[in-house]
Amino acid sequence: MINVTTPYLPPIEKYIKYVEGIYNRKWLTNSGPLTQELTVRIEERLGVKNLLLTSSGTMALQIAFRIKELKNKSVITTPFSFHATYSALEWQGANIDFCDIDKQTWNLSTQELEKLLKSGKKVDCIVPVHTFGNPCNTKQIAKLKEQFKFDVIYDSAHAITTTDKNKKNILNQGDISCFSLHATKLFHTVEGGGAVFASSEEHEIASSMINFGLTGDKAFQPGINGKLSEFHAAMGLAILDDLEMIEDDRNRQKSYYSKLLNSKVNFQEIAQNTKASPSYMPILFETQAQLNIVQKTLNENSVFPRRYFYPALHQMPVVTKNNKTWQLPKAEFIAQRVLCLPLYYGQTNSQIESICNSFPQ
Ligand SMILES: *Cc1c(COP(=O)(O)O)cnc(C)c1O
Repeated sequence: MINVTTPYLPPIEKYIKYVEGIYNRKWLTNSGPLTQELTVRIEERLGVKNLLLTSSGTMALQIAFRIKELKNKSVITTPFSFHATYSALEWQGANIDFCDIDKQTWNLSTQELEKLLKSGKKVDCIVPVHTFGNPCNTKQIAKLKEQFKFDVIYDSAHAITTTDKNKKNILNQGDISCFSLHATKLFHTVEGGGAVFASSEEHEIASSMINFGLTGDKAFQPGINGKLSEFHAAMGLAILDDLEMIEDDRNRQKSYYSKLLNSKVNFQEIAQNTKASPSYMPILFETQAQLNIVQKTLNENSVFPRRYFYPALHQMPVVTKNNKTWQLPKAEFIAQRVLCLPLYYGQTNSQIESICNSFPQ
């Protein structure tokens, strides 16, 4: 059976070495030495500051939304993302609106956003997603932020190694940028995530928030338990040295898929002069019927691609039950036609050939 992805596992000896250290210290969680080391090493590797590791990417989003006090505030996000983007916002009690995506990049459309803002809609925060690692138009978003005064929290769950036109890591964009270190992501700690804060004060508040709101023995705010454990950090440290190798291998696969499927399907348009994390292998069919045929054939051959992200978020039952509807034709069009093919470290060219042979001539 071949799934849409298979988690990368580092050499077991390497992981055990870190675990032995944990056994010796008996310091299992609460910002232990491995969590501290992983924080510094990710900061150095990516070129970011004020990074906080959390127990999941969703936790990082919730902390970010909490810090910006989004309860009952007006927030705009993209309808073409994983459900967690929406769910974390609703969990924090935000007033959520969707803005349509760009039909080429599949990211939140800055043109549509500008139209919404110019129509007089008051917006407190926007939550764009670097969908499938493709960087958003961060420059235009920053310009609109300047003009219309709102907070920007990026969901960078797919984009941990994505760089912009200036070769800077994309996590440097926005007020807060959240990422996921879940087992299915490009780089992982089994479960885990984190956020990068533009403001060092907010980084400090967030560090306290994930520790019940405590600073030392005193609490100055309510908090939650959102800490990463030492065992999770150990997995991250054991994988970090291999990250470049993992990326190279996935990029090889993406190029090979693109070459073999070039005349049969379309692809996401990646922003020029940027480098997108090779997180997924999404393809776009002309029609949903074609997608269904290929998916069925692949399933019969025990290959299980995934329809990320279908249905679009505004069409999820949890949203539609509130009797609110949105006209988001581009998101609906893309969501109906995108299929993510298997992409994981070690997948061979011959496996990719056999997947591509399931496509009609
Ligand atoms: C995976 C993902 C998340 C959630 O991350 P977890 O670490 O699984 O909580 C949030 N947003 C997007 C877009 C994701 O793909």
